Amino acid sequence: MIYLDNAATTKALDVAIESLVTYAGEKFYNPSAGYAPALEVKKALALATEEFAQLLGAVKEEIIFTSCATESNNTAFECGIKNKKGNVVVSSMEHASVYESAMKLKSRGVDVRFIPLNKDGFVTEEALREVMDANTAFVSIIHASNETGEINDIATLSEVAKSINPKVIFHSDGVQAFCKIPIDLGLTKVDLYSVSAHKVGGLKGVGALYVKKGLNIQPFIVGGGQQNNRRSGTENVGGIIGFAKAACEYRESAKRIDANGLRNRIISKFSGKDWVKVNGSGNNTGYVLSLSFKGLKGEVIANMAQEQGVLIGLGSACSTHVKSNRVLEAMGVDKSFANGSIRISISPFTREDEIQIATDIILNSAEKLKEKING
Ligand code: PLP
Repeated sequence: MIYLDNAATTKALDVAIESLVTYAGEKFYNPSAGYAPALEVKKALALATEEFAQLLGAVKEEIIFTSCATESNNTAFECGIKNKKGNVVVSSMEHASVYESAMKLKSRGVDVRFIPLNKDGFVTEEALREVMDANTAFVSIIHASNETGEINDIATLSEVAKSINPKVIFHSDGVQAFCKIPIDLGLTKVDLYSVSAHKVGGLKGVGALYVKKGLNIQPFIVGGGQQNNRRSGTENVGGIIGFAKAACEYRESAKRIDANGLRNRIISKFSGKDWVKVNGSGNNTGYVLSLSFKGLKGEVIANMAQEQGVLIGLGSACSTHVKSNRVLEAMGVDKSFANGSIRISISPFTREDEIQIATDIILNSAEKLKEKING
């Protein structure tokens, strides 16, 4: 099988699996306990947090570990909106965990506003200015799209947001950007940033939320007061230490590859075909490619590819049950194209020969299907 659905999840790296085995087995102690072996575990956790924070341009006090990025995003929305006063501004290219959090606020009567996308599928400064005002309490703009890989300039967008309301809280979902493109949150005005372990070689069920120093948000999960009372529940020690190690390895590996070069090579196979559309402008992480085939069904192309040993996605794996694609629609992709959308997503460990073989299979499948439909 050639696996090209890395935006949905990645294969866990050995360091992540080894950490789980170590901290579930030999070093199983509760980091909150007072005896020596537990204190060793606590130390290891603190060290891993420090290493992890550096990847974000943060310090360890700014990191809260969660059970997944969905929890991080929910926490940001539930706890980041101070006094629940003012309007909330969200981009039209968010993952379901942000979109549904915003819709929950809307159902409680909060004025939720969506920022339209330009045709290339990202948020411009102008669009943010149009939607935001001095009463905006919270802004959420995804860093890199899980649908298209397009990057939002969150450093500039957070500056713009603070220039309109200095008290606004700026959140970004960084799941598809983390370890793939440079991030230095300390140099930006981003207040909250969500990431997930299983997208970067860590285990499923581990996430993190960056909370800028000085921002006091209420805990979403209360109880025993772990993580300085910011997220209760005994820490998933092996998962967290494995997350830190995997993320470091993933980041180093990502630095060694030219993801956009690989992405462009895939695109070149489809160029000159007026029935194939690349969604996005090219300001991309390089790890995700969204293609739409006019008049075809993405699902059928993906099934044909699977029969020949290639696994690709249709869009967000968390929302395959949703028929229409909210993000492509917001980009203005015509329905005749949007229904024929597939998502190819690589990792730093995807080999070039795998990409070559898979691209041929996908193109052949689409051509065969087109012939069958058009007779
Ligand atoms: N945000 C984005 C952009 C994602 O791609 C995903 C997963 O698909 C999530 C959030 C949710 O991550 P998790 O599976 O850790 O809850």
